[in-house]
Amino acid sequence: MGSGRLGHIRLPGRHESSVIETPMCTLFTKVGSAPYLGVEMLKRISNVPEIAAMSLGGLAPHHENVREFGKGLGEFTAIKSSLIFTTLHDASAAVTSGKNDRNGVAVWGKGGKLKLDPSLYVKVQEAFRPDWFQALSDGDTDRGTAKKRLIKSVNNTLDFLDRTLELTQESEVLKDSSLIGVIEGGFDEEERQRSAKETSARPVHGFLIEGFEKGHSAVDLFSVENFSTLLSKTVGCLPEDKPRIMETVWSPLQVLQAFKLGIDVFSSAYPYVLAEKGQAMVADYTIPRQSPSAKLEKEGLADGCLSCSGFIIDLKNKSNFEDFRPVLPGCKCYCCANFTRSYIHHLLNTSELLAYVLLMIHNFHQYFEFFSCLRKSVKEGTLDELQASLEIQNNVRSVHET
Ligand SMILES: [Zn+2]
Repeated sequence: MGSGRLGHIRLPGRHESSVIETPMCTLFTKVGSAPYLGVEMLKRISNVPEIAAMSLGGLAPHHENVREFGKGLGEFTAIKSSLIFTTLHDASAAVTSGKNDRNGVAVWGKGGKLKLDPSLYVKVQEAFRPDWFQALSDGDTDRGTAKKRLIKSVNNTLDFLDRTLELTQESEVLKDSSLIGVIEGGFDEEERQRSAKETSARPVHGFLIEGFEKGHSAVDLFSVENFSTLLSKTVGCLPEDKPRIMETVWSPLQVLQAFKLGIDVFSSAYPYVLAEKGQAMVADYTIPRQSPSAKLEKEGLADGCLSCSGFIIDLKNKSNFEDFRPVLPGCKCYCCANFTRSYIHHLLNTSELLAYVLLMIHNFHQYFEFFSCLRKSVKEGTLDELQASLEIQNNVRSVHET
C-alpha cells in the first residue's frame, strides 16, 4: 500500500486565487443545501469544505429557472461562498439500475426520472455554471457485472465524454469550468486500466472513479478481495498532477486506505447517512490518542452501553435515556457544547427535526475534523499510527455489533 500524497488544487477562471489542500472532502448537499442545515447553521461549523458537491437528480429539473436567474448554481442556492462541483448522482443514495443506454443516463429527483443525453447535459451545466462538473457517465456496474456490460459501460462513458468535450469547446459560459473525467470498468482490471488510460488521453481536469457498486451505499469496498490491488493499478494509469475523486469510500478508515492508494477527494455523505439513522461519529483522530473521546469506548465497554462503539454511537438506543454527557465529550461543536445524549435521544424518539439538525452539526464537525487530522498526520509522518488507531477503534465497533 502507498503512503498517500498531500496536494493542492487550483481552480482556473473565477476562483484562480483559491488553493485547496488535499486530501479533502467536498461538502455534501441535497437539492443545493447542506441537509437539515440553513446557511446560518452551516456557519457554526468549522472547517467546512470549500467545494460543495451538488448532484443533478434534484436540481436538473430546475435548470431553466437557474438559467433565467443568470448567475449559476452557486448564487442560486444559498451556498454563495463555496465552489460548486456538479455530480450526476446523490452520493448518499442507491440508484435504480438498468436505466442507462448509449444515448444517455438516468438521474432521479423528487419529480421522478430524468434522462440526460450529452446535449441536455451540457445545457444543464451551462445554466448551472459549476467550477467542476463530472462528465456524463454510465456507472451502473458492480462486482457481479458481466464483462460484456463492463466494456459497454467504459465505451458509453468515453463516448459521452467525447460528445461533451465537443459541445463544451465552443461554450463561452463553461470556459472557466473544469470537466472531470469518469473512470469505469467495475472489478475488471483490463477495463479499469483501459478506461483510465483513454480518459487520461482526453483534456480533463481530474478523475472520478466510480462503477464499483450500483449507485452509492455504505459497502466497505476494502473488505472485497483484490479491491486495493485493482484501485492501485487504476490510479497508476492516471497522471500525477490531476485530482482523483471517489465518492464511494466513506468511513474514516476506508478513506485513509483509499488515500494511501492515491485518492485525493472524497464525499461527506457519510455524516448525513449516519444522522439519518440517529447515529453520531465518536472516533478519536488524535495521535497519540489523548482526547476525552479516547475514554469513551472504555466507558462504553465498562458500563455495557450497547449504543457505544469505537466509530459511532446510536442515539436511538434507550441506554441514552439518562445519559447527560455530550454526544462526544471534548467535541467543540455547537451540538456537544449545548445538548446531551439524553436530549437528542428524546428528540429522536419524538421525531423532532432538531435531532437531525444537531446530529448533522456534530457529524459534519467530526468528519471535517478527521480530514484536518488526516492532512496533519501526513505532514507529521504519523499516518501509520492514525491507521493503527482507527483499526483498533473499528475492531471495538465490530465487537459491539456481534
Ligand atoms: Zn460534537
